[in-house]
Amino acid sequence: MLNCREVTRLLSEAQERELTLKERLSLNIHLSWCSGCRTFSKQMQAIRRITRAYVKGKNEGQNNE
Ligand SMILES: [Zn+2]
Repeated sequence: MLNCREVTRLLSEAQERELTLKERLSLNIHLSWCSGCRTFSKQMQAIRRITRAYVKGKNEGQNNE
C-alpha cells in the first residue's frame, strides 16, 4: 500500500511521465479512501490544465507574429 508521501510523489511524476498500470491502481485505491490526497490530486490536475492552456496560448501568439 502507498502512503500519502508516495502518492504525492507519484502525482507529481505523473506530470512528467506515464504511470504504470500498477502505479495507477495503487493511486486510485489510496485516493478512494484518502480525502487529503484526493484534494491534492484535483489541485495538480487544475494546475496542469492552467499550465497547458498558458503554454498553448503562448505558442499561438508566437505563430501569429
Ligand atoms: Zn493520502
